[in-house]
Amino acid sequence: MCGIISVLSLKTKIANCLFSSLERLEYRGYDSAGIAYIGIDAKLHRVRSIGTIDNLKRAARELSIEGYIGVGHTRWATHGKVTEVNAHPHICKGVAIVHNGIVENYQELKKELLKSGYTFESETDTEVIAKLVASYIDNGIDFQSAFKHAISEISGTFAIVAIYEGAPHLLLGVKKGSPMAIGFSKDNQNFYIASDAVALSTLVENVTYLEEGDFVIAEKRDTLTYKVLDNLWSETSRKSVPNRVSLHDVEKNGYETFMLKEIFEEPKVIRLTFDKFEYNLNTSKHKSISIIACGTSYYAGLLAKYWVEEALKIRVDVEIASEFRYRDPLLSADTACIFISQSGETIDTLSALRLVKSRGYKVIALVNVESSSIAREADFVIKTEAGIEIGVASTKAFVAQILSMLMLCTDRNSLAITEIETSVRTVLNMEKKFIDAARKIMSSNSLFYIGRGPSYPVALEGALKMKELSYIPAEGYPAGEIKHGPIAIVDEDVYTVVIAPLDKYFEKTISNAQEILARNGKILLLTTEGAKNLSYDFRENENVDCIFLPQLSNPVHQPFCLVTAIHLLAYHTSKLMGYDVDKPRNLAKSVTVE
Ligand code: GLU
Repeated sequence: MCGIISVLSLKTKIANCLFSSLERLEYRGYDSAGIAYIGIDAKLHRVRSIGTIDNLKRAARELSIEGYIGVGHTRWATHGKVTEVNAHPHICKGVAIVHNGIVENYQELKKELLKSGYTFESETDTEVIAKLVASYIDNGIDFQSAFKHAISEISGTFAIVAIYEGAPHLLLGVKKGSPMAIGFSKDNQNFYIASDAVALSTLVENVTYLEEGDFVIAEKRDTLTYKVLDNLWSETSRKSVPNRVSLHDVEKNGYETFMLKEIFEEPKVIRLTFDKFEYNLNTSKHKSISIIACGTSYYAGLLAKYWVEEALKIRVDVEIASEFRYRDPLLSADTACIFISQSGETIDTLSALRLVKSRGYKVIALVNVESSSIAREADFVIKTEAGIEIGVASTKAFVAQILSMLMLCTDRNSLAITEIETSVRTVLNMEKKFIDAARKIMSSNSLFYIGRGPSYPVALEGALKMKELSYIPAEGYPAGEIKHGPIAIVDEDVYTVVIAPLDKYFEKTISNAQEILARNGKILLLTTEGAKNLSYDFRENENVDCIFLPQLSNPVHQPFCLVTAIHLLAYHTSKLMGYDVDKPRNLAKSVTVE
């Protein structure tokens, strides 16, 4: 989940590229950061700090970072607390390592290394890699071979980059389970290894994505060269593609935060996804559909279940990837398996996909990143058109996922796309109402989000966004289920967001809202214009606030403006509470650990 950048250069000005890439990578992990480089004095130097890249820059203020080779890292801690000592790079006897992922057998390796006299300063799994490489070098093995031997001893999923004071002309990397991208600067003066193309957005025009098990060895002589070796250590070539990540994608463009920019891009994403969608599901071949995903993508799958079952009359099961992959799932040739992931790197979803493929079945991927591992390993790819998403809490990518799933089961001519797009714009123009609602919600002890039918997955998505960003415990529930237990929690400090557009479920959901009011709970009703003139007495209740969203002519399309509404609500609650919405605590984008 962390971010990695590294550079091998013919010039000595490497500081700018390390720091600016780390800034762009902060969304991949932001609890601590560090760099290591071999200076013009031929010595290995390191600086680390907890917190943001600004802190790291402050810590590095006194250093004149000049050298031909360097590595940088933003951490999302898996093993060991957020401390400077645990921050990467980890070093041992001139070897410096940055690492994304987990070394699963680090305990055994550590025991062996301790026996051989190596000492450890951190609590991380990563430190064993640095010690292991150094131990091979101590035994007289050259850096490249030492790296190869060390990697063959570790298990888990990872992307690792290494440099060594004794071989300052070599930059080494390996990819197993976590993504890795490489490329040259336009003038061929710099070669980079990074954890994703975002890190390289302003640095390279073309990027090469490594494949599973690949090693990369870059070398500086009079010029820079590199080779890619596969997992059997035979030289291989990997295709280079234009780096589509532009500066516009990775900047806020006048918005205060990436998340707000991305919520305001939702109408554009709807139009683009509609224009570019071209996948045809072979419905005669499939008796059922399994959708497998994690987090927000899982909720996109749950919403799709309502649409697909109604439109195609095919059974849809929605599975959490981290459960699916460790079960012995019952699969058959007439089940279409669809894997949803924004980044296309979510390791649990990727592993679930591999499980299905290993049984000989074809798989479909719905991803936002075409070059991702899930896209590369799937038989069929549906690419969502959300563009780069930097905000850790997914917004526009969720919108692109649900529209793609709707298009999978709907004739495109029957989609009132202009109406959907316009209604989402109208919700964005109502931003002030969500700020007012957020002001009330922010002081509650806990929250419920309830809805029926397609509004139930919207409620789940709303609760997830709210807890991710505001840290207020929030639970999504089917409205009809609340009386079977959760209502016990309701009192005057509990807020419930009732998602009840005027549709066939409306009356029933309102009855559930009444049950909450009867127990002194507070309600924010997210409903639609059509419900404005209905006379139901609880609207007069001082514990109820209402927001009327556009009423769409086809109720199937209604979730789009509900989703934008719950995104704005979570965003503004977090903002008012004074949190950093783009970097919610404990989280990071692109979950590449299991
Ligand atoms: N497992 C390593 C650690 O805890 C790397 C985590 C990451 O991917 O940032 O330091």
